[in-house]
Amino acid sequence: MEGNARKSAILSEHRPAGIARCAAASPQHRNEGEGELNAFRTIEGDAPLDMLIVGAGISGIGAACYLTREQPDKTWAIVEARERLGGTWDLFRYPGIRSDSDLFTFGYDFKPWKSKKAIAGAREILDYLREAAAEYGVDSKIRYNHRVVAAEWDSAKGLWTVSIHRSDIDAEMRLRCRWLFGAVGYYDYDQGYRPRFEGEENFRGALIHPQHWPEDFEYAGKRIAVIGSGATAVTLVPALAEKAAHVTQVQRTPTYVLPVPSEDKLANLLRSWLPEKLGYAIARRRYILQQRWIYGLCQRYPETARRLIRWVNRKYLPDDFPVDVHFNPPYKPWTQRLCVVPDGDFFKELANGRVSIVTGAIDRFTETGIRIASGQEIAADVIVTATGLNLKFLGGIELRVDGVRVNPSEKLVFKGLMLDGVPNFCFAVGYTNSSWTLKVGLLCQYLCRLLKEMDDRGHAVCVVERPKGGIGTRPLLDFGAGYVQRSLHMFPRQGDSYPWQMTFSYVSDARLVRRGPITDPAMRLSPAPSSAERQLAA
Ligand SMILES: Cc1cc2nc3c(=O)[nH]c(=O)nc-3n(C[C@H](O)[C@H](O)[C@H](O)COP(=O)(O)OP(=O)(O)OC[C@H]3O[C@@H](n4cnc5c(N)ncnc54)[C@H](O)[C@@H]3O)c2cc1C
Repeated sequence: MEGNARKSAILSEHRPAGIARCAAASPQHRNEGEGELNAFRTIEGDAPLDMLIVGAGISGIGAACYLTREQPDKTWAIVEARERLGGTWDLFRYPGIRSDSDLFTFGYDFKPWKSKKAIAGAREILDYLREAAAEYGVDSKIRYNHRVVAAEWDSAKGLWTVSIHRSDIDAEMRLRCRWLFGAVGYYDYDQGYRPRFEGEENFRGALIHPQHWPEDFEYAGKRIAVIGSGATAVTLVPALAEKAAHVTQVQRTPTYVLPVPSEDKLANLLRSWLPEKLGYAIARRRYILQQRWIYGLCQRYPETARRLIRWVNRKYLPDDFPVDVHFNPPYKPWTQRLCVVPDGDFFKELANGRVSIVTGAIDRFTETGIRIASGQEIAADVIVTATGLNLKFLGGIELRVDGVRVNPSEKLVFKGLMLDGVPNFCFAVGYTNSSWTLKVGLLCQYLCRLLKEMDDRGHAVCVVERPKGGIGTRPLLDFGAGYVQRSLHMFPRQGDSYPWQMTFSYVSDARLVRRGPITDPAMRLSPAPSSAERQLAA
């Protein structure tokens, strides 16, 4: 383990304090002992962690806070591939980056969102996450620059051995844990989805994907074309318009776009009168019901919802604006994520002429911009391809159970957080029809209940088994967006009945998760394997 040679080390710790020793009291992006691999002791004979959380985004930090609150005796750590926490909210740096969920439901149920803004920018969300991490002592237990590459479950020992690449010192290491929690989001961090356009090599301007926004990119006075119609495009367009000469949004298919107030006056009033936690809880409840009401309306009365959205769009746009050309999607509302725009900023820019919108297929890029199939030319100095994400299950981590590789696409999801046949493993995929975190919070609460139940009954291993008689299956996410559909075949599937079904209703999930039975006939619980006990005792 010397010089520049790729090093190999095996690490484990007895207590959270042990793991904190390696990461605590150091700047957020550094690991104490950087470059000093010898500081890590070897694994053999050491006690494994109770839980290893992979990913320090809103889900991983949330999971750690829940564990701290509800299972304070458990030992755990977070390993994070990047050098900072925040996940999505740190990765994306394009102008105007913000949530499209309200923060009353995107925030954690245990930590009030204090800002007046209901829709918040990445910086505010990051501040909130850092605050939560500090309040619960999570920040000292995050190991940055630790990318999990693979994890192997050994039934004889009842343990995961997790293989990690440390990018800061280019070294491999291993950690052992009883439970593995994949809080790694749902998309590929390295590469956004970027279709190839005919003639793009001829384009003389700058070509940018929002996932890789160049630092300090100067676009004042430039003509910008933004390709795409999703949440990123409608966020970027008004933000770019503040400095650009002109912004043209180029979309093949329209999306439903709905203005929402960036500040919620009622929620702010409630919070000024009531104790902080109560005010937050009431505002959160109201947003949950509101989201449910809007989603339900779209599902049950799609034509009424379509007319309502069209009516609202009309109010924001000039009388002669062709709403039916640019804001009338061929699918029903909420079969793809509905885009929200705070205070109608996007529509205001369209109305004042700093932004224009073109709907039609792209024929090719030219030296000076984009040519649409209709022959229309769009002059541009900069083209932004807001064409979406590449989905990736479990951050590309390869799982093995007793030497056999787990193929996620052959697996069935149990209660939205475990995979059949994969012991002591769970993962966090949130809602796509409302705030992601609402679901992740429920999953974490269920997991804490399960851990307690297992402890009470003297069990250490939990595995769920697929129904014997077979079960009808369908894709994990019932979501029509192109980027989701393109990659869903690599994800596990859901069944057609509970507990194998992914429900997308917070109210019914909350009932099941908080008050429903913890164990299930599909669940096999067992004590720690005796061989493992022998080994640990040695
Ligand atoms: C631009 C954008 C805006 C969004 N806005 C909203 C919104 O308003 N509301 C909403 O509900 N959802 C939104 N989403 C979806 C969003 O991703 C989730 O809501 C949420 O932020 C996901 O949090 P997470 O912690 O689960 O995952 P992420 O934020 O993706 O974090 C995952 C973390 O895991 C780490 N990781 C990944 N693989 C590994 C590995 N192998 N080893 C170690 N670490 C690893 C990553 O580096 C990252 O830090 C948005 C998504 C995008 C891209």
